[in-house]
Amino acid sequence: MNKLSVVDIQIIDKCNRKCRYCFGPRPNKDILSYDTIRNILDEMSLNQINNLSITGGEPLMHPDIKGILSYAKEKDFNISLSTNTDFFKNNTELLKYIDILGIPLDSSVMEEHDRVRGNGSYNSVIDTIKYIEHNGSCDVRIGTVLSNNNKKDIKSIANIIKKYECIKVWRIYDELKYGYKNDKLIIENQINENIMMEVSKMLNKKEVTYVSRRNRNLGYFIIEPDGQVFMPMISEKRDYKNYIGDIYRDSFKKLLKVWNKLCDANNHTNMNLNIFKEINNGK
Ligand code: SF4
Repeated sequence: MNKLSVVDIQIIDKCNRKCRYCFGPRPNKDILSYDTIRNILDEMSLNQINNLSITGGEPLMHPDIKGILSYAKEKDFNISLSTNTDFFKNNTELLKYIDILGIPLDSSVMEEHDRVRGNGSYNSVIDTIKYIEHNGSCDVRIGTVLSNNNKKDIKSIANIIKKYECIKVWRIYDELKYGYKNDKLIIENQINENIMMEVSKMLNKKEVTYVSRRNRNLGYFIIEPDGQVFMPMISEKRDYKNYIGDIYRDSFKKLLKVWNKLCDANNHTNMNLNIFKEINNGK
């Protein structure tokens, strides 16, 4: 029996950016209402699922983001929120609800990061990290999606990360291929083990993990903004979303049962460590 410990809720389809490899926002611009999210959080509590990952789209564009976070904190969840940081300046009061803020950094060079994520993104990311370093109460998780353009830049990115104590976790990801706007990227074995060892040593107080496609077959439980629930399936040939149900149609109990069966059938492990920091500094 697998124990689901984290649910990823994509609360909104909208985003102000158009990152090259994004698989988040879709054209129909769905949004999960505050009441629907509240029901999901109540179900998670009842099922002793303590970790919540809030993503989108851009979650800070959700009109009820404050209410959602405050209710989640009231229910005592560990909360991870992933943001592109563009709306952070006007939402700094939300930090008190968040345990770990997921922020993208795809290059040490502003022009390259912005080529992938759009103008102004690099400065917004760095300003946000600086703000949290000086005022924030939450930890930061940096996410870097590998491409041919940044794989030689990993040590320079590590040098930026090293400067900030608030950054506790660095995840380096292979790109998943089920996006609909993919750049052409090399997927397998992008990072040489020696480089990983080197950057782990450089950042020995932080947790550094390379999440390759091969170790990405995790038991995700992702709720999309239209209420569909899926697990990503990764194979040599293709990546796809394996839909396991719909929160408007299926009971949470039923969804957990299907999730559990699929984890067993596909040898999936739980996604928890992919979202929240581990205790052992990645060693
Ligand atoms: S900021 Fe995130 S959700 Fe928005 S386009 Fe970029 S990757 Fe997608």
